[in-house]
Amino acid sequence: MKNRLGIIGGGQLGMMITEAAQNLTDEISEITVLDPTENCSAAQIGAKQIVGDFKDELAILKLAEQSDIITYEIESGNTDVLSKLKAKIEPSPSTLGIIQDKLSQKTFLSENELPVSEFYEITSLDDLREKINELGLPVLLKSRRDAYDGRGNFKITSSDEIEKAYQYFDGKSLMVEKFVNFKMEVSVIAARNTKGEIATYPLVENIHENNILKITIAPARVSQNIIRNAGEIAKKTMQVLNGAGVFGIEMFVDQDDKILINEIAPRVHNSGHHTLQSCKTSQFEQHLRAILGLKLGSTELVHKTVMCNILGPDGFEGKYKPVELEKDGVYLKMYGKEISKPQRKIGHFNIVDLSDTKDVSELLQMADEIKNIVTISPL
Ligand code: AMP
Repeated sequence: MKNRLGIIGGGQLGMMITEAAQNLTDEISEITVLDPTENCSAAQIGAKQIVGDFKDELAILKLAEQSDIITYEIESGNTDVLSKLKAKIEPSPSTLGIIQDKLSQKTFLSENELPVSEFYEITSLDDLREKINELGLPVLLKSRRDAYDGRGNFKITSSDEIEKAYQYFDGKSLMVEKFVNFKMEVSVIAARNTKGEIATYPLVENIHENNILKITIAPARVSQNIIRNAGEIAKKTMQVLNGAGVFGIEMFVDQDDKILINEIAPRVHNSGHHTLQSCKTSQFEQHLRAILGLKLGSTELVHKTVMCNILGPDGFEGKYKPVELEKDGVYLKMYGKEISKPQRKIGHFNIVDLSDTKDVSELLQMADEIKNIVTISPL
């Protein structure tokens, strides 16, 4: 029997899941997304859309009526509503519940003996001062919920910043974490299907600016030892998390080459966009295979690839000129967003070493050149 797929969120991730779903014609009969932006990215390529907020109970119920299986592109879904639905939801609302709250996520990981930076819950300003005494500076004060792209973090480097940092969060539930002086940020895209089969993609290297992912390099330029350790940590993480689907596991490599998990995203992940061209199975198809209980696809990296995000420039909000690019081995993906906003993810391009003759520094140099061509400018 074919499934009607529902996706909470129809931005770029929902759009790329939709594209993969449209190719799984034997498994999926129709695709509906729930998104507040009319004619969202996924709707533009043929998904049906319910216009509504991701947390709107009535809108979620409507999505559930039209779906046999529901998945999501955002982690801020309403787990109370989701757990009441009759439709199948993957990853499961209980997995989402653990991950959604950064404190419960870190607690869960450390209870399962997975490596994370030292952390504490924070309940008051005095409590924060006390915990900083234990951890030492610098630390990161983090909002436990509804934070993404680093927007819920405040780095405290000196004791006179403590009060300002605490006030910044204006009463939100908080946690504090020892600052990791990392050598590199890396991630593993990992999948687990409903039958318990697990597959991990090769380790990639991520370069952030202002907390937003700018570049992913596949594979990461690290030792075999680090690759092995990160792979084992990712597999163990997938074993202890119950839900099915693709997860993005972000990690730090510290100065002693130790791996620490920074954060898990219970969804397809920006650092997995390279798989669209670099790997035998894209993360989007893999996600669908996982939630539908199909055999997982090969995660083999066939070509070295550098992925660059195209972000809306600062100081401009509005419609922008179409972006085009034709170059061998370069794959531009625009997300169809009508409006550019500062630092908004508008598209990405993958530079793929199709001939297997280039090294990463050459691909990075090409990325620099292409960045000057695919700029976002007012219409
Ligand atoms: P997050 O939204 O918590 O994933 O954090 C966004 C970015 O903040 C990460 O990609 C890191 O660059 C940085 N970050 C988060 N936690 C830490 C930490 N404990 N130590 C150092 N940098 C961190």
